[in-house]
Amino acid sequence: MAFITADRLSKQYRSGEVTVDALKGVSLDVEEGEFLAVVGESGAGKSTLLSLLGGLDRPTAGSLHVNDLDVYGLRGERLADFRSEYLGFVFQSFQLITYLTALENTMLPLAIAPMKAKEKRAAGIHALKRVGLGDKLDRLPHQMSGGEQERVALARAIVNDPPVILADEPTGNLDSKNGEAVMKLLQDLNREGITIVMVTHNLGYTKYASRTIKLQDGGIVPFTDTDASCAVAFEDEQEEGRSIVGSGSAAERRGFSEPAALPA
Ligand code: ADP
Repeated sequence: MAFITADRLSKQYRSGEVTVDALKGVSLDVEEGEFLAVVGESGAGKSTLLSLLGGLDRPTAGSLHVNDLDVYGLRGERLADFRSEYLGFVFQSFQLITYLTALENTMLPLAIAPMKAKEKRAAGIHALKRVGLGDKLDRLPHQMSGGEQERVALARAIVNDPPVILADEPTGNLDSKNGEAVMKLLQDLNREGITIVMVTHNLGYTKYASRTIKLQDGGIVPFTDTDASCAVAFEDEQEEGRSIVGSGSAAERRGFSEPAALPA
């Protein structure tokens, strides 16, 4: 069995009379040490998949095993323990606490860990050094750039030394220079052995991943040569100094937000 095995995951959201099939039986294996990028247009089901992989939500049907653990069979404290032992989460909005320093924000996931205060501090400093912020331990979020804040969020995700990082649009709020820096850091962490699953709508960043899958309308569809060549085109634009991040980006101008022509 792969390190992460999702089997026929479905998720329906119901609001009143309306039912949305956000995921339609997605099966996915992620091997230890992989860096998987999940792309697809808005509404394709990417965030839903990521929150199911993180055990943050339960599927309507399907199962998830991580390191042979039946994740949806876990309840309460055991589910919380699983998340804290296995997963680091990185989101688009940094979600840093404004009145805590970089170090205090980084140490937050260790709040209830059975560790001495000194050990927690050492782990926080180590994580911040790994993301290149060893000299900014005492900065408050507003005293740091967007890129630095995202790096604190990354430090917070790795402070408990998880084998897996789940990242949802980690560069979504960053300009292309800071976005690239965060992607390189993720790549370094992956090379150090952390398995990464990253949702992005930015095809240019798939070059950092070892594998890319595409979601469309709640299902996995092939990531085509056309998609891949769009990614190369983004890179060219970026080298020319044009932004490739955010809505109205080159991705959308090139029709990525339109359903891609797929082989039958
Ligand atoms: P993506 O991350 O690819 O943009 P999402 O996973 O956020 O896609 O959403 C997939 C579909 O599920 C969309 O149609 C979205 O509107 C719907 N959806 C997501 N979350 C909810 C929710 N909490 N309630 C109802 N519908 C939702």
